[in-house]
Amino acid sequence: MEFQNALLHSIIHFGPIGVLIVNREGKILFSNPKADRLFDYTAEEMLNLTMVDLIPERFRENHAALHTQFLNSPKYKNMSFGREVLALKKSGEEIGLEIGLSPYTENDQDYTICYIQESSYQLIVDKELTDSEKFLEQIAQSVPNIIYLYDLKERKNVYVNREIAHTLGYDSDDIRKMGSNVIATLVHPEDLPKVIDTMQQLLTLQKGHTIDIQYRMRHKKGYYVDLLDRVTPFSKNEEGETIQTLGIVQDISERVIYEKKILYEEEKFRIFFENSLDPLLLFKKKEGIIDCSLSTIAILGANSKAEIIGKMPSDFSPEFQEPGVRSQDKAMLIARFLSTNQSSYRFEWVQKKMNGDLFTVITRINRLTIQDEEVFLISWNDISDQKQYEQELMDAKLIAEAASGAKSEFLATISHEIRTPMNGVIGMTSLLESSSLNKEQKEMVQVIKSSGESLLNLINEILDFSKIEAGQVELESREFNLRILLGELENAFKPIAKGKSLTLNFVVNPEIPERLMGDPNRLSQVLKNLLSNALKFTSVGSISLNVEFQKRKLESETQDWEIIFRVKDTGIGISESKKNSIFKPFYQADSSITRTYGGTGLGLAISKRLVELMKGIIGFESKESQGSHFYFLVPFQVVPSVVNTNSLKAKEELGFTFIPEIVNNILLVEDNTINQLVAKKIFQKIGYEIDIADNGAIALEMLTSKPYLLIFMDIQMPVLDGIETTRQIRLNSKIDQPYIIAVTANAMKGDKEKYLETGMDSYLSKPFTLSDIQRELSLWKQKL
Ligand code: ADP
Repeated sequence: MEFQNALLHSIIHFGPIGVLIVNREGKILFSNPKADRLFDYTAEEMLNLTMVDLIPERFRENHAALHTQFLNSPKYKNMSFGREVLALKKSGEEIGLEIGLSPYTENDQDYTICYIQESSYQLIVDKELTDSEKFLEQIAQSVPNIIYLYDLKERKNVYVNREIAHTLGYDSDDIRKMGSNVIATLVHPEDLPKVIDTMQQLLTLQKGHTIDIQYRMRHKKGYYVDLLDRVTPFSKNEEGETIQTLGIVQDISERVIYEKKILYEEEKFRIFFENSLDPLLLFKKKEGIIDCSLSTIAILGANSKAEIIGKMPSDFSPEFQEPGVRSQDKAMLIARFLSTNQSSYRFEWVQKKMNGDLFTVITRINRLTIQDEEVFLISWNDISDQKQYEQELMDAKLIAEAASGAKSEFLATISHEIRTPMNGVIGMTSLLESSSLNKEQKEMVQVIKSSGESLLNLINEILDFSKIEAGQVELESREFNLRILLGELENAFKPIAKGKSLTLNFVVNPEIPERLMGDPNRLSQVLKNLLSNALKFTSVGSISLNVEFQKRKLESETQDWEIIFRVKDTGIGISESKKNSIFKPFYQADSSITRTYGGTGLGLAISKRLVELMKGIIGFESKESQGSHFYFLVPFQVVPSVVNTNSLKAKEELGFTFIPEIVNNILLVEDNTINQLVAKKIFQKIGYEIDIADNGAIALEMLTSKPYLLIFMDIQMPVLDGIETTRQIRLNSKIDQPYIIAVTANAMKGDKEKYLETGMDSYLSKPFTLSDIQRELSLWKQKL
């Protein structure tokens, strides 16, 4: 018996099972060392407790009832081992236990003996849940976010779902064990202040409100994970203070990495943009300038970006680009051109600084999109120094010119003196060509003719340019047929292209109306320049002329059409370094080119001036050795259709109709004998015999005896010039008034008006050709 007692004692004291003995009221009367250890109390402390102290608060209510039931009901007696419960340690931490109970009665007193062993906390928690709780728990466990309940008072997690293991590597047991240290251990030290601050705010935050907070937490493996936590008060005490908070946490590490990458890229491009030496601006139509580089601030003389952003490019332009050319009009044209036809455009532009000073730049505009929105990138290449230099040269040139005599007089003389004999040479050669000649003579005549033509061409270019520069060129505005003009050009250039084995293609948008108002000769001159350059600088491949349009506005009667001409070639192209200069007079990309290709270097300078006089814009794109693309846009008025048919009829009549009533009624007033001869021959060729007067005085004399119907009147003549003669004819009521056509070699701006004012009916420039005369005759006939 003694041995059995000793055995029992050692089993109870040293065995792996905890043992408690409690009375009916639940007071602990005995606990063995294992039980003490499980609950973390000393043996003395244990004896001061009742069972309720070892049970988590939420189960206490039920416990007393259950215990009484156990003691009273035989069914519960000797409850075998295996019931799993949650219990409370001294620290307040919950543990899972497996317990078995057996009743024991002595001296009418009921006792309960309790056998205790550790069990899995989580499993027990799971078992404790009711069905709907299980359902909710399942949801909570399967969402890919961390969901937690946090006790603000106790500063520890009350609940956390399994996702935490996935995100941070810890399981909910680990978190539970960390108790009130979770935040201090896991949150990144730099983020700790804001997390604590948020907890402070949550204390008084109303239910239903949330706070978003971003912080980093350390993963079990040591690295940090970026988290976005949306927290809300979950339960409150009577004073309205938050007790528990509910948080839903998203792992945003990938997003943060991506955002950092984007920020880096942004920063990189900002550095590029801001530090560019050439001023750069970004512009949106509605918002104005949206950004600019530091060099832009400097060149405009602004103090900060803020002074530039939101402004329109027009705020930095003077009213006029050059006399008569409003910045606004030119800018509108460029903008429209860019928005439909071209993704980039380069042009010279005068800019205005904040203080009103002007400077000149080569502007390049690129049309781009940022997130589907149209944005323009503008870059400026400051050429003020170059301009200054050019101006100084110009000034010097003007001084030199002033010293050597009046420029325009000199031009007029040259024009007259050179073109008159050239007129003789060319006129006579073309007549000679059509007479009967042997083969050798024919060849010789052709050489004379083509040399004469290129000499005339050269003279014309030089004169033309000087006149344009002197502001003495005025454009015609008359009706013409674009198709016919283009057809003539095609016919003229086809043989040249064929001779060089190049293909030449003209493509005209069929919607473009035939009849336009404008200056056909100047338009043709520009096209000829571009086409002959294309042919000149291309040895293999093709040349094309494309004619497109952009419709501008519909008005009641007339329409304004902006027509775009593009000349493309596959030739030598233009190097980057020369691109800013080719529109300058006398400029040739490579001076050795002069010898290889010939030319004056005036063609493009003239073309640019002419296009601008036509209120258009011109530009080009080119890559060295890959070809060039020159384009220009010019607005034209379309002739309304009524006039259209009439003029077509006129055109039919134009043919080479012979007009018998004037056969012997034409007078030419001309002092130069060569010109007299040429004219006489030309008229004879088409069946008219003309009379000639050497000067105006003789002409007046002749008019008294013969009623001439048509007079071709030279302007500069000795004794009595063309203007005075005409005036006298018009004043003389005794004679039948003839139709007078002014003929001149040196038309200056305003001359035409002067002639018409003095009573002339039309105007013709020397050297004139058969078709010029035919046109004049049919004009005259129309007016009868
Ligand atoms: P040029 O009489 O020399 O042709 P332009 O003013 O017409 O004078 O042209 C100036 C320069 O521009 C030319 O000398 C040439 O270097 C360059 N250029 C013009 N058009 C072309 C083109 N289609 N291809 C290559 N270079 C060209």
